[in-house]
Amino acid sequence: MTPGYRGLIHRYRDFLPTLKDGDIVSLLEGNTPLVEAPRLAKAIGAPQISLYLKIEGLNPTGSFKDRGMTMALSRAVQEGSKAVICGSTGNTSASAAAYAARAGLKCVVLIPEGNIALGKLSQAMMHGAEVLSIQGNFDQALELVKEISASHPITMVNSLNPMRLEGQKTGAFEIVDVLGHAPDYQFMPVGNAGNITAYWMGYKEYFDKKKAGSKPKMMGFQAAGSAPIVNGAPVKDPKTIATAIKIGNPASWKKAEQARDESGGVIDAVTDDEIIEAYKLMSSLEGVFCEPASAAGVAGLKKHIAQKKLDLKKGAAVVCILTGHGLKDPERAIAVSPKPASIKADLKAILDHLKI
Ligand SMILES: *Cc1c(COP(=O)(O)O)cnc(C)c1O
Repeated sequence: MTPGYRGLIHRYRDFLPTLKDGDIVSLLEGNTPLVEAPRLAKAIGAPQISLYLKIEGLNPTGSFKDRGMTMALSRAVQEGSKAVICGSTGNTSASAAAYAARAGLKCVVLIPEGNIALGKLSQAMMHGAEVLSIQGNFDQALELVKEISASHPITMVNSLNPMRLEGQKTGAFEIVDVLGHAPDYQFMPVGNAGNITAYWMGYKEYFDKKKAGSKPKMMGFQAAGSAPIVNGAPVKDPKTIATAIKIGNPASWKKAEQARDESGGVIDAVTDDEIIEAYKLMSSLEGVFCEPASAAGVAGLKKHIAQKKLDLKKGAAVVCILTGHGLKDPERAIAVSPKPASIKADLKAILDHLKI
């Protein structure tokens, strides 16, 4: 056992379903940085607030999915399962593949063909998962996974597996433990809607156990072309560049609405242009590079500040969850950036170009 931090199951054991030490599958996930972002706060029109970015891209496979996967794989091992399966827009498959490899279990992933970011695909392949590229979208992949796992001895590790949300709720614990209190608002992307459900579970649990004196308003954001909860109806053919939230019929739809309503929050939509703008702002102003879907929360914050919909007093604590790392989707980053100038290997040519 490596000395020091031992992963989120060890850290939050008292709040999680029971697991024996020998069954725990961990890559030392969790304990991610909560970085203050004053330049971003100023740029989006709220210099008076304390804005924090929870950098979930620094989990072992580059997204928050690892929080749920350490629990799901540990429980699968405990139950003697030999194989796991998931449908995925990318990050779930990357995480499932890595944790299954760590546990010595077989992993099958169903991904929507042509709609998965390169980094994520490379992870599933490298970790030795059986990758099936489905000629359909995520929602169809998830339906198939549900049918297969219901009738065959293979454990589903999508967020319908209750262990996933148990692990993911620890993100809320970490935020309260670092700040010393719950934030006033939490902004985050919403796809299959498991994460907003899990965070709300975590905040409620900490409040009930007197670890926090308040709970945040939960502010979830879908992409405008993929906004079933906002529209009030499933979207048959969801469209957005933010592939991690390109989901037309979220599994945790009702629970996400509960989180919204119990917390006094909002689930709203942001356009792809707003997402890209937030994505670029964060990387250029704060040195924080997240994947496009992760920027939906910040885009939503900017939108709601502009619409004067928030009560943001001086020092109000606002947390945005940056769900995945920017390196997951290098193609998008390059597509939205100016091309590097091609210049002769010559001092004068370079100085002329830089005008210095
Ligand atoms: C999975 C994922 C989401 C969406 O989370 P849900 O729990 O499905 O709502 C958002 N961003 C990234 C990077 C993800 O991997």
